Amino acid sequence: QAYVSAIEAANGQLNAYVMPTPEKAMAMAAQSDARLAKGEAGALEGIPLGVKDLYATEGVHTQACSRILEGFEPRYESTVTANLWADGAVMLGKLNMDEFAMGSSNESSCYGPVKNPWRRKGSNLDLVPGGSSGGSAAAVAAHLAAGATATDTGGSIRQPAAFTGTVGIKPTYGRCSRWGIVAFASSLDQAGPIARDVRDAAIMLRSMASVDAKDTTSVDRPVPDYEAAIGRSVKGLRIGVPKEYRVDGMPGEIEALWQQGIAWLKDAGAEIVDVSLPHTKYALPAYYIVAPAEASSNLARYDGVRYGLRVPGKDLTEMYERTRAEGFGREVKRRIMIGTYVLSAGYYDAYYLRAQKVRTLIKRDFETVYADGIDALLTPATPSAAFGIADQDMASDPVKMYLNDIFTVTVNMAGLPGIAVPAGLTEEGLPLGLQLIGRPFDEETLFSLGSVIE
Ligand code: GLN
Repeated sequence: QAYVSAIEAANGQLNAYVMPTPEKAMAMAAQSDARLAKGEAGALEGIPLGVKDLYATEGVHTQACSRILEGFEPRYESTVTANLWADGAVMLGKLNMDEFAMGSSNESSCYGPVKNPWRRKGSNLDLVPGGSSGGSAAAVAAHLAAGATATDTGGSIRQPAAFTGTVGIKPTYGRCSRWGIVAFASSLDQAGPIARDVRDAAIMLRSMASVDAKDTTSVDRPVPDYEAAIGRSVKGLRIGVPKEYRVDGMPGEIEALWQQGIAWLKDAGAEIVDVSLPHTKYALPAYYIVAPAEASSNLARYDGVRYGLRVPGKDLTEMYERTRAEGFGREVKRRIMIGTYVLSAGYYDAYYLRAQKVRTLIKRDFETVYADGIDALLTPATPSAAFGIADQDMASDPVKMYLNDIFTVTVNMAGLPGIAVPAGLTEEGLPLGLQLIGRPFDEETLFSLGSVIE
């Protein structure tokens, strides 16, 4: 009830939820009460969570914050949310996001931007919460949810977590089922939680993760008790600091934060090692070929016939054209255009195939440092703190927006786990995050290290 009331009071201002579901929340909470009374509590019994609008929720409007899915009510539940409800969690509603999870500021949503609950000291300027999981991050930061589901294709869990002082983990590719999550770039997409601290993120991820016959890329490995990794000694762990992440024009406060993180881990007994990931500089351009290519293919299904919006035309082709012209926003259209181009005959080898080769090299960079005995890597989560809504620089040049992902996309390209942990504040009082990158399926080490930093 407290969360339902808080959403009623504050959501008009923040725009974090696109569809609160108070009745459903109260009904699920009543079921939790009944199970608690019988001594049958699940791991998340009664815990109120928000759900990113990318997750299909049975009987609850699911739109990926795109006009083209207007009116779509799935008759099925995503595996990840089904896992959460099976453990007793309570659904508070659907959360705002960039349209089809394409963006880094939550401004491409058909429901308009989300406001970051944080502001610069002494300023009234509204800031973005990051994206694409901006609603998830803002809701958790403003206590409008105890935790939230999110997804990360190139940074969409970690960047908004860093911008809002929350914790976000993108687990290893295959750790969570993607079934029932609207597909953006299938070889990069992963589900994960945004939570208020490392412990909550660990508890949530344990419930979210599972192998699933409906997603053949999900992996059949036992899900460890992630919470048990918190507080575990990090003594003797070897932490790599990749020199290529010291990018040109990096603000001094980000560099200082990174040094602070290094000092904390050293104090806790970890060994810090300088390492090199030589192909890092190609990660962002390669990502912005691979992700749009997969998106252009995944989004072909929105044709006005099978889901949501249909804008009639004089014949079938005109109906397709009108539906897609009206249904998709600018950024989504840009991605479809890029993706179609790089996959087309004559350009496929020059762009898509080459990007896939670069992706292999990026993955090998990580394999090499891990083979040298590095347990995890420490980097900044983002190249800056949260920026203003409708920032002119970003709005006029999409590539500036893409640069937000510079520290996060490599992790998706290599399929590795990465966590963003709040680590300090800017001089103006805005949160900044550090990122820890782990070995495949070694989320536990990230939770151990993350709890040293937070
Ligand atoms: N900002 C990146 C993009 O726009 C990542 C998005 C994501 O992780 N879903 O593609």
